[in-house]
Parts: sequence; C-alpha cells; structure tokens
Amino acid sequence: MRPLQSEVEQRGARIFEIVDQHPESLFSKAGFYQRLMALSMRDEQFKAELFRLVDVLPSLRKSGDIVEHLDEYFADMRNGFTAFIHTGVRLARIVPWVSGPVLRWNVSGMARQFIAGKNPDDLMKTLRKRRAEKIGFTVDLLGEAVVSETEADKYAARCLDLLETLARETRGWTDPLGRNSELFPVVNLSVKISALYSQMNPADPAGAIAHLVPKLQPILRRARELGAFINFDMESYAHKNTTLELFKTIFTEEEFKDWPHAGIVVQVYLRDSEADLRHLIDWGRARGTRFAVRLVKGAYWDYETIRSRQNGWDCPVYFQKPESDVNFETLTRLLLENESIVTAAFGSHNVRSIAHAQALADELGIDRSRFEFQLLYGMAGPIKRALVEMGYRVREYCPVGELLPGMSYLVRRLLENTSNEGFLRAKFAENVSATELLRDPNELVRRDGPGSATQATTTTPVANEDRHRKNGASLDTAPGDTYQNSPLVNFVYKESQDKMRAALREVRGRFGEKYPLVIGGEKVWTDKLTPSVNPSAPKEIVGYVPEGGIPEAERAVKVARSGFGKWSQTPLEERARLLERAAAIMERRRYELSAVEVFEVGKPWAEADGDIREAMDFCRFYAAQMRRLGRPRLTQHVPGEDSYQHYWPRGVALVIAPWNFPTAILCGMASAALVTGNTVIMKPSEQSIICAAMLMQVFEEAGVPPGVLNFLSGHGSVIGAHLVDHKDIDLIAFTGSREVGLKIWESAGITRPGQRELKHVVCEMGGKNAMIVDSDADLDEAIVDSIYSAFGYQGQKCSALSRLIVLEENYDRVMERLLSAAASLRIGNPEEPGIVVGPVIDEAAYRRILDYIEIGKTEATLAYQAKDVPPHGYFVPPTIFIGVKPNMRIAREEIFGPVLSVLKVRDLDEALEVANGTDYALTGGFFSRSPANIERIKAQLEAGNVYINRSCTGAIVGRHPFGGFKMSGGGTKAGGEDYLLQFLLPRVVTENVTRHGFAPEETQQYRDEFLWPKR
Ligand SMILES: Cc1cc2nc3c(=O)[nH]c(=O)nc-3n(C[C@H](O)[C@H](O)[C@H](O)COP(=O)(O)OP(=O)(O)OC[C@H]3O[C@@H](n4cnc5c(N)ncnc54)[C@H](O)[C@@H]3O)c2cc1C
Repeated sequence: MRPLQSEVEQRGARIFEIVDQHPESLFSKAGFYQRLMALSMRDEQFKAELFRLVDVLPSLRKSGDIVEHLDEYFADMRNGFTAFIHTGVRLARIVPWVSGPVLRWNVSGMARQFIAGKNPDDLMKTLRKRRAEKIGFTVDLLGEAVVSETEADKYAARCLDLLETLARETRGWTDPLGRNSELFPVVNLSVKISALYSQMNPADPAGAIAHLVPKLQPILRRARELGAFINFDMESYAHKNTTLELFKTIFTEEEFKDWPHAGIVVQVYLRDSEADLRHLIDWGRARGTRFAVRLVKGAYWDYETIRSRQNGWDCPVYFQKPESDVNFETLTRLLLENESIVTAAFGSHNVRSIAHAQALADELGIDRSRFEFQLLYGMAGPIKRALVEMGYRVREYCPVGELLPGMSYLVRRLLENTSNEGFLRAKFAENVSATELLRDPNELVRRDGPGSATQATTTTPVANEDRHRKNGASLDTAPGDTYQNSPLVNFVYKESQDKMRAALREVRGRFGEKYPLVIGGEKVWTDKLTPSVNPSAPKEIVGYVPEGGIPEAERAVKVARSGFGKWSQTPLEERARLLERAAAIMERRRYELSAVEVFEVGKPWAEADGDIREAMDFCRFYAAQMRRLGRPRLTQHVPGEDSYQHYWPRGVALVIAPWNFPTAILCGMASAALVTGNTVIMKPSEQSIICAAMLMQVFEEAGVPPGVLNFLSGHGSVIGAHLVDHKDIDLIAFTGSREVGLKIWESAGITRPGQRELKHVVCEMGGKNAMIVDSDADLDEAIVDSIYSAFGYQGQKCSALSRLIVLEENYDRVMERLLSAAASLRIGNPEEPGIVVGPVIDEAAYRRILDYIEIGKTEATLAYQAKDVPPHGYFVPPTIFIGVKPNMRIAREEIFGPVLSVLKVRDLDEALEVANGTDYALTGGFFSRSPANIERIKAQLEAGNVYINRSCTGAIVGRHPFGGFKMSGGGTKAGGEDYLLQFLLPRVVTENVTRHGFAPEETQQYRDEFLWPKR
C-alpha cells in the first residue's frame, strides 16, 4: 500500500469516527422530506414525477391547481407506493384549500433545506449560527435564468446591495482559525456570470466579455473597498471558456491586477479541466498576485451528457464517476503544488476526496490554515462539524433568494442527493462501509468496454451506443432510429470560431466571382448575369450567376429526359454513394459553405452551420432510406406465388427551392429525387444563387453524371412557370410561398399534349405558427424559446413563431419578461458572432414586412419595437404587437419577418381554438407542466410538427420529419421515412411459380435482379 493511501484511509477513518459520534441522516431536516427522498431513491419513476412536481409548484397560485398537478403526476403511478399515493391524492382532492398550501409548505420546507435565507435578514440569522460553529460563508444569489438585460442589471444591483449588507453585518467578525486570515476575507460572494448578461453566446466570448467587464467592475471595486472576496462560479460547459477568459481579462486590468481576493471554480468532471487549471496557474504566475480556485466535481453532469447527445458533440464530461474522483485528486495535487500562487478551496462532500486533500497537504508541508474546505448549505452537516473539529477551515456555500428563482438550484441538489453515483447517498442512505468509501478511485475506473476510460477520451457513450445499434441494424429496421445525425459545429471551441472567421475572410475575398449554370454537364453562360447581394450591406455583391431563360430551360429538360433512362437503371447503391460522397464534400467545405450563407442570406453563424448540417443529413439519411426502400420486397409468403413490390422513379424532377434554407432545402429535395433515380433540374431562389452554385460544385465533385443534375437559375415567373407547365416534367418538388405553391399545384393538374405521367407535386408552404403558454409554464424556458422561435433568423423560417397565445392568468408576467427579453436581443451584421437578428433577405421583403408593421399599428397595439438597427442593409426591427385578435391580418397572414403577435386568451379551450383557427398547420408549440394539458395539445393542436416545452423551429432530419398540412403543404415529411415515396412510382410483379402442383418451399424476402436486368 502506498503511504499516501494509508494516510488517506487514516484521515477518512477519523472523519467518519467524528461523523458517527453525532449520527445524522443524509438530510438535516427529517420527516416529510426525508421520506420523499427515500422513496425517490427506490423508484426512478417516482423520482422523476416528484422532481417535476417540485419544479412546477412555486409557479402555481391556486390550491386547486396544486392538487390538480399532484393528481396528474401521481395518479397513474404503479409501484409499491400506489395505495399510499392514491390515498394522498384522494384526500388532497377533498380539501384542496388545505392540501394545496400544505403541499406548498412542505416543498418550501424542502427548499429551505438548501436555501440559507429568503432575504439578507434571514440569511444573516443563518450566518451568525454558523459563525458560532466556526464555519465561514460564501453567499450565492439565486436567480440564474436571466432572460433580459433588465434582469441582468437587477442581479448586478442585488450583488452590490448584498455586499453592503454582508460587510455591515459582519463588522468585527474575525477569522475562525486566526492564522493566514489575510487569504480568507470574511465576506465572500459567489457570482454566476450568466446572470449578469442575458445574451451570452459561446461563439462570441469577446462580445460577452466586452459586456460583462463594465458590469463586473463596480461590483469588484466595491468588494475591494469593503475587503470582500469575489468568486466566479462555473456553470454549463457552453459558458466555461468565456468565464475563464473573463476572469483572466478583468483581473489583469491595472485596477485589479494586484488584488488577491478573487477566485474561480474548476469542474473536474470536465476532460479539459487539467489543461484549464494549468493555464490558470501560468496566468496567475505571470500576473504575480495570488488568486483562488475552488475545485468541484461539477453540478451539471446530466445536463452536459444530454446536451452533447442531442447535438452529436463530444461529451465534455467523464463518463465514469471514479474518473471524476481520480481527476479531483490529480488537480488537488496540482493546486497544492502551486500553493505559492493559488489558494485552494476543495468543494466536496466526499470524505475520500477531502481526506486525500488533507493527506497530500500534509505530505507537501502546507499548513491547514492555508486552504479551505467548502460545502453546501443543508448538506453533509456532520462532515462540516468533523472538519472544524479537526482544525480545518470550513466555508459553507449559502444560496439566498426566493423559491421560484431558486428552483433549478433546488432540483440540482435533489438530483445530487439521490444520485446512484453520489457519495452522500452511499454513506448516509445506504451505509456503505468506510473501507469501500475510502478506496482509491483509480482502482474503480473500468479500463475497457463501452464508456471506459480508455475509449472515453476519443468517443462518446452515444457514439459507442450508436455503433452497437448500427451494427445490429438490418434492412428491415427503419433507419429513423439508427441514423446518427451529423454533429453541429460546437462554437464553444476557439478552433471552431477561428475556422469560421477564416472562412468568412476567404469567402469575402472572392466576392464578385461568377459561377456558371450547369446543363448536361456543361458550364453555361448567358448574356445576362444576376448579381447576388449581401443583405447586411447591399452594395456588396457576393457573386454572379447567369440568368437562364426559356432556351436554357428547354435544354435542361432535354438533357434530363435523355439522361433519365440510364440513371433510373443505375443500381441504388451507386446512387446512394453519390449522396454520401456529396455529404463528405460538404463536411470538408463546411465552414466555407456556412460563410457563403452568412453573406448571401444573412444567417447568423450557428444558423448557417445548422443549414449545412441539415444538407449533409439529408444526403446521408436519404441514402440510408433508399437502401431500405429500394429493393423489391416480398409482399406475403404464399406458396406457389411470388409477389414483389418495388419502386420506379417518376422521371424528370423539377426542384424549386427557397432562399431561407438555401443549401439544406435545395439539397434535400434534389438528393431525394436523385437517389430515387430521377433526373433533376435544380432551380434555386433568385436570392440564394451562390449557395446553389456551391451545391452544384459539390455534386459535380461527387461525380454526378452529366445531365442527371442540372443547375438552372433565372426568374421563377419565367423559367419556373415554363417548366412547371412542361409536358416532360414528371415531378415538381417545391418549397416556398403559398401563393406560388398553390399556382404550381393547380397548374400541375392540367395534362398537356404528349405528357406521359400525371405530374406529382411535393409542395411545402408557409405557416402562421402558434405557441401557447400555459398558466403553469416554466417562464425561464418559455420566454427564451419563444423569443428565439420568433426572432431567430429574423423570423424568416416557415416554422417561425408568429402568434404567441398566452393564458390570461399568466399574461402580465409573461409580457413583462418577453418585452425586456426582446429588447435585449443583439441585432446586427451576422458576420459578427453572437448576433441573433440579422437583415431580412432583400428590399422587397424589407418593405413588405414594414408594411405589415404599419398594418399591425392600425389593427393592434405596438408593445415593442427595437430602436437601434444598423442604418444600412435590410434590417427590420424586431416588433411585438399586443391586443391582437384572431381575425386581424397580422394574426392570419404569413409575414415572414421578425414580427410577433401576442393574443391573450381565457383558457386552454380558447387557446386551442385560436391556435387552430388559421389556414395553416405547419408548426405549433406549447409550454406547460400539466401532463393532462400536454396530452390534450398532443392530440388536438393542428400542426404537422408539434413541439412541447421547446422552441418550434430547428427540425432535425430523421428525428423531426418536417412538413405540414392545410395550406402549409401537401402533407409530406422532409427528412422522414415516407419522404422518398413521393419521388417514386410503386409497382408489383407477381409470378406464378407453381409447375404441375410443385412449388419451391423457400421464397426470398428481397429480389433485385429484375430492377437491373443483365440484358
Ligand atoms: C462549496 C461548493 C461550491 C460549488 N460550486 C460549484 C460551481 O460553481 N459549479 C459547479 O458545477 N458545481 C459546483 N458545486 C457543486 C458540486 O459540483 C457538486 O456538489 C459536487 O459535484 C458533488 O461532488 P462531491 O464530491 O460532493 O460528491 P461525489 O458524490 O463524490 O460526486 C458527485 C459528482 O460526481 C460527478 N459524477 C457523477 N456521476 C458521474 C459519472 N457517471 N461520470 C463522471 N462523473 C460523475 C458529478 O460531478 C457529481 O456531482 C459546488 C459544490 C460546493 C460544495
């Protein structure tokens, strides 16, 4: 046994010995709370429902609502506590005016367990008690989800007030250890950086720092005057780099350079944490003044794993709990070895982690008064007492504030306390032995198998999981549930930001270049060039493409028609591979293609990247789908007869695409047509011809045969109309406005002389999408997601939110937060990272939207309109109308710009009536925490894509097949498993295989010989 390990064991044993002298349960408050937690640890479903109830409770105002929710969450539960729960729910129903407040009181009690005070007065009572126990404090102001600058400014003001109160109330307090007290001021404030700025965007650390520095300066200045200590807490990974950078920036400023009373948190569950800590230490040495680091494992493990899984990102956290424990010890050493510049605070309740820090400090000869242990208020009381008794410096992290803003903090603590992996549960609820609890975590790390330490550094568990599933997938399995989407670019990494900047520079450098039409594999020029302008700066021309006319359209039809025979007979595997090669090329050129979108159609960085990701996904997803669909498949096992259903392509497809998803939609429709064996004429919108030219380059490089894909640009009213009516066009795939869509639908119904097929139209049009905010909705989420759904990409998505329907009970609170959140949006040239609202596409759109705003002013009440928009470029100020009625034009007509109508309704019945009362049915959303109401919306909201408790934009291929009905479209689902059928004609071949009563016993499931006959 290594000496350090035995030392750790000895110290751990000593802590346990003291802890066991004053036996206490896991939670310092017994009774109701303790029983609930015990149930939660035994039953995952109960735990999920309980945490959901806890989450919604503070926002419920009526006793009846509380009982209603209790019933909805627990009535259907089937487990060992069913009888107990049902009795409780029944009783609650009988006397809601009693049970509602009782329940609320109990949950408030739960929160009081972790929240040190509602207000500074309450808090001081707690702090005084702790002082008597020789425990110091750091105070954290609850109120994390800041949706606007108004809220952020309030948080900053509260920080300043709190500093004053703490300094005043603790005057004369002395250091509990009386040694090295200059390192540990009595007043210590923990600050959440994201609560100081509502527009933090991982892609733009510099922008965030520029906003945050002036906000922090007065707080730091005052803290310094008052002799207080300021700690930067660490939140989700998306904010980590910015928080670190901010810390270094502000504490290098002349004013704060020599101030030692600043600290920051390092979360050891992050794989980056060692590198970050080394950089911090180097920075500290260069700065030449002490600073502090609080080492914690990290409070957002579940969030980080879910988020990275959803986006296909490498997971930033370790997968195995012992890996975090090992890293805690590694970084403990790093901190203590650099004690000369950094003061360590160990934020843990884990006796092994604590004992290790103690043992190592002794080994390195560091006096125990030169570092401290920090523990959370309401947790691990006996451990705090033991540490004090052993002569260590202990500080308690004390959250202060109301329950509602403190909810996410409370839920994090509940998760932590009931986690299977947690130390506290093991020690205090499951009585795991001291020997087991003090084991060296290195021994517990699994070295192989999925999610192991060795694999984990290169792949995520998702990747592992998906790899397993993919291998297991057969042709009979719908790829929908095995398809792995391409990851989004994670702009949290500086490398991604740098690549995007370089791409923007490079694309800017080739502004004004000319790109040809491509017909029959030949580059075609005409005598007229169409310029494509940058809507942020209309004097800038991104590039030119020749304007095609009727002759070019005729030529395109001719080559597509003559190429059809061969392409339709090309094995599906070859066609699928073409799409996969195209996806790979887009992946290689990803930043460049995104940059073109930023300039040509005014997309913010992440939106542009999302579009390229979607284009790649369409290619790969449709390739997979075609492999599933493409082979002739036995319809039924019937002796003596073989019947195979299969598909033929339709012929020549005309693809007419919009500018708002300039690569994805064009690519999606074209790739679906190609992989199914049709030849294609691709006609992009006149506003996004450069993106289309890029896509043509991609397919040419991927090896599309001449004539199979043709790129034709020109006026829709000229070549579009001509081709729609053309007898040699068999299929039209259209996405765009209702006006044009309906014309195409009608015109395609007319059969022309010489026409072979009935024209098939794949038609996707607009929406007038509604989001309903229920009276119990989580407003932190509802506001942020509504603002993003309405104003992200300037409201120019067919899925964008344009009608916010708010229940009157909640109306005032929603509006107060919504309007200030809108006022905080960053508007500007999307070439800059961090911009949310850029320009609209062109002058015509600009004028049309402004006209609608004028109409809105006459019909309803203007509640908000942004003032500072850039003077040049097509910038429409985000605008919100209230007092909107369902029959008004702004509530019925698609505006396609940053204009939001708010409709106040009595109840959910009226909300549904209003939501469903339009011509459209594309997307719809609902924010609620009532399971019954959620079920109702799922069943009754008329929309092709219904989104609950999230934004109503951002459909992902395979995951959210996209498309609507009514006047929103023909009911197809792009990115769904039925989509390719639109591009195909079904056919069945039946053969009698009986000869004189004899028939083969076996029939093959698939046979594809006759699709590609040898002769
Ligand atoms: C004073 C104080 C301040 C804090 N400030 C912050 C802060 O600013 N930011 C922040 O994020 N957290 C902060 N925390 C919260 C802290 O991260 C958690 O309380 C802590 O992670 C619990 O760790 P533990 O050592 O007490 O318990 P343990 O039970 O030993 O560890 C639990 C932790 O292990 C990690 N873990 C769980 N499962 C896995 C897994 N499968 N793989 C890898 N790791 C896993 C998680 O981080 C989990 O929280 C603070 C805690 C304290 C005490």
